[in-house]
Amino acid sequence: MQPLSRQFKKNVAKSIADKELQKSLLTAKKCLVHNRLNAIKLVTDFELLREKGKQIKQHTLSHLDYYLEEFEKNFTAQGGQLHWAKDASEARKIIVDICKHHDAKTVVKGKSMVGEEIGINEALEEAGVEPIETDLGEYIVQLANEAPSHIIVPCVHKTRQQIIDLFSKHHKKYGCDKKLTEVSELVAEARKIMRTKFLNADVGITGANFLVAETGSTVVVTNEGNGDLCSTLPKVHIVTAGLEKIVPGLDDVSLLVRLLGRSATGQEITAYTSFFTGPKRDVDLDGPEEMHMVLIDNGRTDLLNSELNEMLRCIRCGACLNHCPVYGSIGGHAYGWVYPGPMGAVLTPAILGLEEAGDLPNACTLNGRCESVCPVKIPLPKLLRSLRVRQFKKNQGSKTSRFALKIWAQFAKHPKAYHWASNTGIYLLSLITARKGSIKFLPLARGWTSSRNFPAPQGKTFQSLWLEQKEKKCE
Ligand code: SF4
Repeated sequence: MQPLSRQFKKNVAKSIADKELQKSLLTAKKCLVHNRLNAIKLVTDFELLREKGKQIKQHTLSHLDYYLEEFEKNFTAQGGQLHWAKDASEARKIIVDICKHHDAKTVVKGKSMVGEEIGINEALEEAGVEPIETDLGEYIVQLANEAPSHIIVPCVHKTRQQIIDLFSKHHKKYGCDKKLTEVSELVAEARKIMRTKFLNADVGITGANFLVAETGSTVVVTNEGNGDLCSTLPKVHIVTAGLEKIVPGLDDVSLLVRLLGRSATGQEITAYTSFFTGPKRDVDLDGPEEMHMVLIDNGRTDLLNSELNEMLRCIRCGACLNHCPVYGSIGGHAYGWVYPGPMGAVLTPAILGLEEAGDLPNACTLNGRCESVCPVKIPLPKLLRSLRVRQFKKNQGSKTSRFALKIWAQFAKHPKAYHWASNTGIYLLSLITARKGSIKFLPLARGWTSSRNFPAPQGKTFQSLWLEQKEKKCE
C-alpha cells in the first residue's frame, strides 16, 4: 500500500465532509465502545488482567532475542520452515518465491495487518498470482479497491447500501443476479462464493495474533473461521508475522486472548481461537503439506531500541481507535497508511519516518482515553509527545507552529509573564466576543475555527478562578 500520510490534512478535510462516513463512524463507535464496557464488567479485576498483559509483553520484549530463537527451534522441530525478513521488500520476495515454486495461481488470505504493511497483494498480483481476501470485511474493501480503514473492522466506513451495491456489481459473474438487502443474505452469498475459492486455492496466507515460543505454534483469532480454512485447505500455508508477536508460553496466550476479545469487539472470546503447530503429519486427516513462517522486522528492531519501544506491546485490538475522538471524526483512510488512530499515529512515523508521517503525532488532543483503554497499557500520549519532541529537535513541522512553540516556551519559563499574557489575552478575547458569544476567526488558529466557532472565554483564566475560589474558602 502506497503511503499517503503526507496528505494527511487533505485527507482529513475530505473525511470530515463525507456525510456517509460520519454516519458509519458514529454507529460503529457507539457499538464497539458499549460492547467493550459490558464485556469488561464481567471480569472481576480487569485492571489486574491489563497489568499482567502488560508484564507478559514487556518481559518478552526485554528478552526478545531469546524467545525468537526458542520459537525458531520449536517451529522448525515441528516441520515448519522459518524465513527472516529484514524489511517489506525481502518479505514480499520470500512469499512470492514460495508461491512461484508451487506454481500458485490463487492464494486465499486471512486478515493480516502486517500483510497490508508489506504490501503482499500488490506483489502477488505483479507476479501473476491472484490474492483473495477471505475475511468478510477485507473481502468488501478488496471489491471496492480500497484499503482497510480499521484494524479490526476493515470496512467500518462502508454503509449497508454501499455493500449491497458492491455485491450486486461484482457477484454477477458468479450467477448471483438477485439484489440482496438483508445482512444475512449478503453474508450467505459471500460465503458460497468463498467456499469454491478455498477449495481451489494453491496457497493460504494468514497473519498471527501470537507466536508461542515454548511450542512453536501460531495462534490465529477470528470470528469467521476463514483463518482456519486458509491454514488447512491449501497445500501450502504461509504465516506472516512481526517479531513482536512472540509470547513465551501457552499460559500467556490464554491471558492475552481474554484481554484481546473484550478490548476488540467486546466478546469474552472470539468464535475461533486456533493453534497451528507445524504442517500435516502422517496421522493427521488434513492440513497443509508445507508450513512457512515469514518473521518480519521492518523497523521493529529500531523501535525496540528507541524510547518508543513500549509500542511493540500492541496486540492490535483496536480499542484505542474506537475511543479516539480524532479517529471517530476522520476514520482510518485519512491516516494514509495501514495503521490508523492513536496506535497508527505512533507506528506509522516510527516505521515510515517523520518526514512521511509528521502530521500524525500532532493530530491528537492528548486526552489520554487511548491509554486508559489499552489492554497492555501502552502510554500512547507519552509516545506521541516523544515523537513531537523528535520532530522539534529535527527542525521538522510547519514554521508557524515551531515559531508559536518557541514563543510559548519563553512564556512557560517565566510564570509571571505567562500569567500576565494569558490573563490579558483571555480578557481581550472576552471583550471581543462578549456580544456574539463566540468568535469565527482566531489569528494563527484557523484549524480550530474553520469548522466551528470558538466559544467566548469567561474573562478569567482557570488559574485565576481557582485562586479566587481558594481565597474565598480561606475567608
Ligand atoms: S495500542 Fe493498545 S489499544 Fe491500541 S490497538 Fe494496540 S493494544 Fe489495542
